[in-house]
Amino acid sequence: MSQHAPVINTNTPVQHFIRSIIEADLKSGKHRCIATRFPPEPNGYLHVGHAKSICLNFGLAEDYQGGCNLRFDDTNPEKESEEYALAIQEDVRWLGFQWNGAVRWASDYFQALYDFAEALIEKGLAYVDDLTPEAMREYRGTLTQAGRDSPYRERSVAENLDLFRRMKAGEYPDGAKTLRVKIDMASPNINMRDPVIYRIKRAHHIRTGDTWVIYPMYDYTHCISDALENITHSLCTLEFEDHRPLYDWVLDQLPVPSHPQQIEFSRLELHYTVTSKRKLNQLVTQGLVSGWDDPRMPTIHGMRRRGYTPEGIREFTRRIGISKSENVIDMAVLEGCIREDLEAKAPRVMAVVHPLKVVLTNYQDGVTASRSAGFHPNHPEFGERDVPIGREIWVEQDDFSADPPVGWQRLTPGGEVRLRYSYVIKCDEVVKDAAGKVVELRCSIDHDTLGKNPQGRKVKGVIHWVSAEHAKPVETRLYERLFTDPEPDGHKDRDFLTFLNPDSLQIAQGWIESCIQDAAPETRYQFERLGYFCADRFDHKPGERLVFNRAVGLKDVWSSGPGNKGQV
Ligand code: ATP
Ligand code: MG
Repeated sequence: MSQHAPVINTNTPVQHFIRSIIEADLKSGKHRCIATRFPPEPNGYLHVGHAKSICLNFGLAEDYQGGCNLRFDDTNPEKESEEYALAIQEDVRWLGFQWNGAVRWASDYFQALYDFAEALIEKGLAYVDDLTPEAMREYRGTLTQAGRDSPYRERSVAENLDLFRRMKAGEYPDGAKTLRVKIDMASPNINMRDPVIYRIKRAHHIRTGDTWVIYPMYDYTHCISDALENITHSLCTLEFEDHRPLYDWVLDQLPVPSHPQQIEFSRLELHYTVTSKRKLNQLVTQGLVSGWDDPRMPTIHGMRRRGYTPEGIREFTRRIGISKSENVIDMAVLEGCIREDLEAKAPRVMAVVHPLKVVLTNYQDGVTASRSAGFHPNHPEFGERDVPIGREIWVEQDDFSADPPVGWQRLTPGGEVRLRYSYVIKCDEVVKDAAGKVVELRCSIDHDTLGKNPQGRKVKGVIHWVSAEHAKPVETRLYERLFTDPEPDGHKDRDFLTFLNPDSLQIAQGWIESCIQDAAPETRYQFERLGYFCADRFDHKPGERLVFNRAVGLKDVWSSGPGNKGQV
């Protein structure tokens, strides 16, 4: 490496303002130990944006020897499910993190939250309101106009307590009443204009069943849950900045064991995809993808199935950093991290995705020899395998051109090329079908080129291939970006679905070296010159049906990179 090449120190933390706050708090003695939490709502699968939040919260806990809780924010019973909750736990573990103690649920605190609400009523800080949602909106005012007090705002403590208990007892229909905190209807911050903290909703809850007909609102639930868990730093995305005064107000009124500090950072957004559970859900329910784990989805399940590595995703979140400024990151940054990780650790084999038959006319049984090849140039410990040759081989259709551009180094009539780990061959004849499509090449072997350069001439091109007799059939799934526009949800006049890429999935039937036939699902390989592939988690059956997903391509497929120099 040249002295001027940038050195990327992977795994060293990148300093950011949240780390600085934590370091100052540890130094000053404000906290002896930090506690963070990751608080997903179990209403969908996690996406790459959540991965940023997971890596931040769990990563900080690791770095500063603290703990990070996994807490489900399960206050919206209609949208939540056990399937989502299980998938989220699987994702956190797959990324390589372990939460502190048991999984927590906001619903664990439903009774405590209810008791605190009664305490607020008793302090004259909460009241039952009968305004309809429309009226409440009207009373709330606007950004430029103060709100007005609800006509129910001055109910007595006794009346409020009675009404709230009757709300809980199920005496009123859904939506008929709410419990609101009494702050300031003229506050410039709309979140402080007597926000609702309880609503009536008859919905079956995944944890508490039909026990409750009133449910606490997110803003009220979240700060108290944080405080009850003695979270020190409650990290959330920027849209909660205006909710922070409410977070602090609620905790200031109640006898909670701690008062965590809410700190906001900017959301991750990625070009060419969407990071909103609602929109991802739309893709799934409309059947536009095969499911939440479709390898084109930016979900953690999708990225996993596609072949992305947890280490690559963690490195990505480290590189993009944490700040308060809006950041839309190019997909290429994520792909680069995955590629770098796989380049270093994926064994390399040969597969032909779009096969073209080549007959080696002067192949001689017992004379034409095979060679063995290492699985990785930098990892001799990965071992070697035999790369057998036979009379018929498969090469990539793209590696032949009857009318090649200038500088072509692959197969062409009369041209020579080296078969990776094997001989130099020359294309003598092109066989076409009735429609004029090339269906076979007839080539001759230069028997004097196994492991050495040909005499008196240079053969620069090297192509991958497999022996027809020895290879196994393989299905490959080649993915392109799911959307054709860098910001599919950034257009006011067009729905994001109109930017779906119709060519985002191509399925090809090809051939692969038999040495991988027993590979377990989720094993990753570099297919030489084609990219990094991962045995499909669900459809790949070792020894039976080989199915590989392309995780990411090689950086520069046709450059004079290592795979294309004249290795012999
Ligand atoms: P979505 O808008 O996709 O539904 P959400 O914020 O409603 O996301 P939650 O389940 O509430 O989803 O999120 C759990 C945590 O993940 C929250 O702390 C949230 O701030 C964080 N998070 C969600 N999306 C992103 C993102 N794009 N970038 C960084 N953090 C995110
Ligand atoms: Mg949310």
